[in-house]
Amino acid sequence: MPGPELTDHSAAELSQALAAGETTSAEVTRAHLDRIASLDGELHAFLHVDAPGALAAAEDVDRRRAAGEPLGALAGVPVAVKDLLCTVGQPTTCGSRILEGWVPPYDATVVARLRAAGLPILGKTNLDEFAMGSSTEHSAYGPSRNPWDTARTPGGSGGGSAAAVAARLAPVAIGTDTGGSIRQPGALTGTVGVKPTYGGVSRYGIVAMASSLDQAGPVTRTVLDAALLHEVIGGHDPMDSTSIDAPPPPVVEAARRGDVTGLRIGVVKELGGEGFQAGVRARFEEAVGLLTEAGAQVVEVSCPSFAQALATYYLVMPSEVSSNLARFDAMRYGLRAFPDGVELPSAEQVMAATRDAGFGDEVKRRIILGTYALSSGYYDAYYGSAQQVRSLVARDFDRAFEQADVLVSPTAPTTAFRMGEKLDDPLAMYLQDVATIPANLAGVPGLSLPAGLAEDGLPVGFQLLAPLQADDRLYNAAAALERLLLDRWGGPLTPPLVGQVDSLVGPVGTPEVRA
Ligand code: GLN
Repeated sequence: MPGPELTDHSAAELSQALAAGETTSAEVTRAHLDRIASLDGELHAFLHVDAPGALAAAEDVDRRRAAGEPLGALAGVPVAVKDLLCTVGQPTTCGSRILEGWVPPYDATVVARLRAAGLPILGKTNLDEFAMGSSTEHSAYGPSRNPWDTARTPGGSGGGSAAAVAARLAPVAIGTDTGGSIRQPGALTGTVGVKPTYGGVSRYGIVAMASSLDQAGPVTRTVLDAALLHEVIGGHDPMDSTSIDAPPPPVVEAARRGDVTGLRIGVVKELGGEGFQAGVRARFEEAVGLLTEAGAQVVEVSCPSFAQALATYYLVMPSEVSSNLARFDAMRYGLRAFPDGVELPSAEQVMAATRDAGFGDEVKRRIILGTYALSSGYYDAYYGSAQQVRSLVARDFDRAFEQADVLVSPTAPTTAFRMGEKLDDPLAMYLQDVATIPANLAGVPGLSLPAGLAEDGLPVGFQLLAPLQADDRLYNAAAALERLLLDRWGGPLTPPLVGQVDSLVGPVGTPEVRA
C-alpha cells in the first residue's frame, strides 16, 4: 500500500485498501502488533496482547475475501478492546486483582459483533480498576502513559484504548463511558471518542460499573471511523433488557455528510467557564467560530441543574457500584483469599479477605459510599434526591434541545495532567468529568473530537451532545468541524511519540497479563 506506514492510516482508508487488494488484513494486523511490541513497553496501553488470535482472525478474513465472500466495511481492520468487556480466549481483568487471570466463558455482544464483522482483536486495553477513575492510575497493573507526553496520564478510565489509538498501536478501539471514560481520554489524547445513546449499544457481557449509566462506544482518530465502528457494535440486542428496539441512527451517512448549514448549535453556559484552562477555552471558542463561519447558528443555552450533576453522579454511580460489585465474593470466580491465622474460615471471612485483597482503594471508597447512600434511613435523603436531580438534568436537556439541535462544550476542563498530580485528591480527579457526566445522567449521546493544542502543546477536546437516539447529529456536526480544523492545520494532529518508534523499544507483545 503506497503512502505512509500502514499504522498511520485511518480505518476507512485501510478498509478501502483491503477491498482494493492493495494490502491484506494479516499485513495490517502484523504492522500494528509490531508497533505494540516496540512502543507498549513505554505506554502500557495493553494489559493483554493476543498476537496469535489476531493473526488467525486476520488470515481468516483474507481467505474469505479471496473467496469473494461479501464482507462488512471494517472487515480486516484490527481493533483493541477495553479490558472491561468479556472475551472468550482472552483474560478479562477489569484492571483489578480480583479478576486476575479470569478468562470469560462468553463474549460480550460488542465483542461478538466485532468478530462477526471480521475485525481481528489485537488485545485488551488498560483501564482504571472497574472503570473507576480519570487517569488509568487506578489500574492494579500499573498506569498507561500519554503518547503526547509520557510523564502525563492519557485520562481515564479508558486511557489504554485512547493511548493505543493515539499512538497508532490500533487504528480503532472500544471504550466504555459511565461518566466520561471514552470522551475525557479522547480529549486528553487528541482522539475521537463517542458515548452513544444509552441503550444504543448492548451492555451484555460488559462488566457492570453503574448499569444505568454505562455505555460502550468507539475510540478512533477520525469521525468517520467512529461512525463505521458504531454501526458495527450498535443496534438492538435481546440479551440486554435496556437495549433500544428501534432502527439505529444513520451514523455513517451523517459522518459522510458533515454539513452544518442552518444547524442550531447551543453553547452550554454552565459547561466551560470557571475552572476551565485558558487554552482549553480558547480552542473551544475558535472551533465554535469555525462552525459559525460554516453556516451554523450559535445560541447560548442554560442548563442550571448541570451544576449539581457531578454530586448527583457521585451518589447514583457508587450506589450502583456497591450493588454490582457484590458479585465478586470469591465463591464464583476470580481471586480467593483466606484470612490470616484462621484455621477454618467461614464463607463470610473468605469473602471479606478476598474483597480486601482484591479491590483497590478507589473501588473500596465507592463501595463504602454507595452502601452508605443506599442504607435504610439515608436512602431517600441521598439516593432518592439524586434520582430527582437526575430528572432535572434530563429536563434541562429537553429544554436546551428545543433551542438547539446539538449542544457543545469543552470535553474536559484541562489538558492531560501529570501522573500522580491528582492521585491523592479524589475530588480533583472527579472534576475531570464535570462536562461529560450530564450526558450519562440523561442517557443522551456525546462525542469528543480534537480541537487543537492548548498553550501547553497538549490536545484539547470539543464535546458535542445530541438528544436521545439522535447520535447521527453528533457525527454530522463533528465531521463538519473535523474538516474545517484539518484544513486549518493542514493535516491531523500527531503525538510526538508517533515519530519515535525506533528509539523506544519495549518488550515484545506479551501474551500474558502483565503485573
Ligand atoms: N471518571 C469517572 C469516574 O471515575 C467516569 C468513569 C467512567 O466513565 N467509567 O467515575
